[in-house]
Amino acid sequence: MNAPLSHPPKVDLTPDAGTTPVMAQFLTAKAGHPDSILFFRMGDFYELFFDDAVTAAAALGITLTKRGKHKGEDIPMAGVPVHAMDGYLARLIRQGFKVAVCEQLEDPSEAKKRGSKAVVHRDVVRVVTPGTLTEDSLLDARGANRLAAVAIRKGRAAVAVVELSAGAVDSVACDIADLGSVLAAFRPSEVLVPDRLFSDSDLKAALDGSGGVVQAIPQALGEPAGARDRVQRLYGVSALDGFGAFEEAEVSALGLIAAYLETTQAGKIPALAPPRRSGDVGHLAIDPSTRLSLEIDRNQRGERDGSLLHAIDRTVTSGGARSLAERVARPLCDPAAINQGLDAVEWLLEQRPLRRDLRDALRSSADVARATSRLALGRGGPRDLSAIRSGLLTAELLSGMFAAAVADPIAAPPARIMAALASLALDAELSQLLGDLRDGLVDEPSHLARDGGYVNPGHRPELDAARALRDDSRRVIADLEARAVAESGVAFKVRHNAVLGYFLEASAKAAEPLMRAGPDSPFIHRQTLANQVRFTTVELSELDAKISQAGHRALAIETETFENWRREVARLAPKLQAVAEAIAELDAHAGLAEWAEEVGAVRPVVDDSLCFFVEGGRHPVVEAAVKAQGNPYTPNDCCLSGDGQGGSRLSIVTGPNMAGKSTFLRQNALLVILAQAGAFVPARTMRLGVVDRLFSRVGAGDDLARGRSTFMMEMVETAAILTQATPRSFVVLDEIGRGTATYDGLAIAWATAEALHETNRSRTLFATHYHELARLEERLDFVSNLSMAAKEWNGDLVFLHEAVKGAADRSYGVQVARLAGVPAKVVSRAKSVLDKLEKEKTSGSSLEELPLFAAAAPDPEPVGPSPVDAALDEINPDDLSPREALEALYRLKGLSKKP
Ligand code: ADP
Repeated sequence: MNAPLSHPPKVDLTPDAGTTPVMAQFLTAKAGHPDSILFFRMGDFYELFFDDAVTAAAALGITLTKRGKHKGEDIPMAGVPVHAMDGYLARLIRQGFKVAVCEQLEDPSEAKKRGSKAVVHRDVVRVVTPGTLTEDSLLDARGANRLAAVAIRKGRAAVAVVELSAGAVDSVACDIADLGSVLAAFRPSEVLVPDRLFSDSDLKAALDGSGGVVQAIPQALGEPAGARDRVQRLYGVSALDGFGAFEEAEVSALGLIAAYLETTQAGKIPALAPPRRSGDVGHLAIDPSTRLSLEIDRNQRGERDGSLLHAIDRTVTSGGARSLAERVARPLCDPAAINQGLDAVEWLLEQRPLRRDLRDALRSSADVARATSRLALGRGGPRDLSAIRSGLLTAELLSGMFAAAVADPIAAPPARIMAALASLALDAELSQLLGDLRDGLVDEPSHLARDGGYVNPGHRPELDAARALRDDSRRVIADLEARAVAESGVAFKVRHNAVLGYFLEASAKAAEPLMRAGPDSPFIHRQTLANQVRFTTVELSELDAKISQAGHRALAIETETFENWRREVARLAPKLQAVAEAIAELDAHAGLAEWAEEVGAVRPVVDDSLCFFVEGGRHPVVEAAVKAQGNPYTPNDCCLSGDGQGGSRLSIVTGPNMAGKSTFLRQNALLVILAQAGAFVPARTMRLGVVDRLFSRVGAGDDLARGRSTFMMEMVETAAILTQATPRSFVVLDEIGRGTATYDGLAIAWATAEALHETNRSRTLFATHYHELARLEERLDFVSNLSMAAKEWNGDLVFLHEAVKGAADRSYGVQVARLAGVPAKVVSRAKSVLDKLEKEKTSGSSLEELPLFAAAAPDPEPVGPSPVDAALDEINPDDLSPREALEALYRLKGLSKKP
């Protein structure tokens, strides 16, 4: 989605002699933010003027009015009440707008002191954009909200990503072709692109596939020298070297982020962790169309329901949910790192009572990451402090809970859990902060600091004194009412409002005698309303002043206390974020253990072989759906081996529609994701040699919005697979070549299967309706046939959902049509046409005679090194024993014989 770009003002927005001071202030603010909608604070409203008012009135359905004139024209105006701002903001942001918030920076009474005409000081305090939100009310608690930036320099690409609401930063350098996969893995809500690349057609698919709003940003902001300076400023360091050796494109992308944060946060520096760097080898590459087809974290309609993530998520904190989502979106490639995660899940799976206590404790913890970020940005309130207190208390609780396990020499926790526990051990500074908040902050503090009432009595003596004075005076006022009634004989009531402060009120009739009283009456008239009259006395006004002074003083002390805590939180932000991350990590692992126990998932063996071996595998999402309907799920085996040792590397999967082909294909791809995400897998056993790239092409719909037919889409995706898949990749292809004429389609499917086997040599599952492809098994060394079993029973078709060796004998299309309710007449006609066609096929032109099959030997136009070359490359003669050398020679001879 591209942003509705700036709506360039149609009106000339320069002030002139007729411009009022407030309007001049508006115009200055607006000039600084021409591409944002400006919310201009005026008392209890944010007002919008000119085109902003027109745009927002249409986008929000609010009333468009006018106020004053500018250069002879009416000024359009619209407004939203301050207390309802979040809802309106959310709607504008969702529609792709940016909103600049211009606040009153002083109390109107302060301005008045400068003269009756003085204008309240105002300035833009922040620009709200999709990628920079921090408010809980605008964020999805269980999903990360990220801002990404893309840069390309010297033929290399980089993506920088910041999650402002948790202070996390990532930097990934990659090949330009991989930009789409990298961006999609982060699912950013907003993507910054240098304006020069904004309309680059090669990048369009990658940018669109990210799912975020794309914003163009001046190319100059990504120039390396300036970018480096800006990033250093953001982190308050004098060199970036301490964070790692960044490629130029990475510095440029990070620089774009830094520049954008400078403007949108109006100079406030967020608390950010150093950039985590991950090269392109560190994570399983999954391109956007594969993500979509496998429904990894969203279903095809973009909802969470029905996705892999939704099916396995048993986390109990929002931080844990985000941590799990990240694992599943970006599975790892390093067997050692993956196994560390698996160790943690396995340990927690075994420690049942501890896991239960852990999850119970986590349930009451709060979102420390987001609270810390808000406070560091000067945007948080007392409630965020209480979130931090509860997070620190949880940390203490968990440390205690694990103490016995840590001390146990036999069942001690594995490395990942030990690392999390280390972050949970509060140091002196964090303990001090916790102590302070525990003493000083009330149990359920207000949302806003200016509401007061959140500092505990006894925490600051001067606050207690101010409060006592205020409360005592209130008591004296209550006495005063009784005395006034006794003295005057009028039924007075003491009341209070913002304008008059405290006053005595009586009905007009009762007050009549006092209205006639002379100047020395103690009751001084203040106001006459329709039925009431209001008075004050000298004593009452003195008390009123005292109360309001004491109230102000109390509030000032409270806000100062808040500010001290806030500053302390900002200073300790990195440590607090580490605590938050450790809590999230424990929750994510415990959640995976919980799910594994629930569904009977097992630990996969993950190594750097080229093996893919699954016994009794199940599709985590389809299984749950099938079982919910009271049906059993049929587990299936799948055995592929990338090096051709011990089996085939490509399986042709045939079977009728509805037999379970797509489910089988996706199931195996999802098992790869789960295993590399460090999760257990729903299978009896699984061994996986880590996969570098995962591809899934499963029946895409037309993408007519982008002007591509199904067939075109299919070919674009097939091309991407054939050019990018490696022997370490895992490919599932469903129904290649269906959107065109039969022979065309068959030819493409055939050639694709051959290339995947011979050139890419990836582990591949290839589902097809072209039963002719089953012949590949005889022609190529490492191809096997699988079919999804079905049988006819009493004239009905029964699907067994079982993957069995060998090709399907027929496709049962006509039977499926009958099952689907196609009228009997049409079904029987189809049957007789089919009989006829099949007779012709056996008697007449056999497929065997087609040039396609005659020339089935792969065209000698190698796309990469030949199998022999590749095998030779892998041999180091100095490392071989005589016997191994002889074996290698036989292997090479075998390879060179292949068609
Ligand atoms: P195909 O791709 O062959 O047309 P699908 O994979 O779409 O078939 O499967 C059709 C339906 O069959 C699924 O929606 C699911 O309900 C059911 N199904 C698939 N595989 C299994 C299985 N292994 N066990 C039980 N039911 C299954």
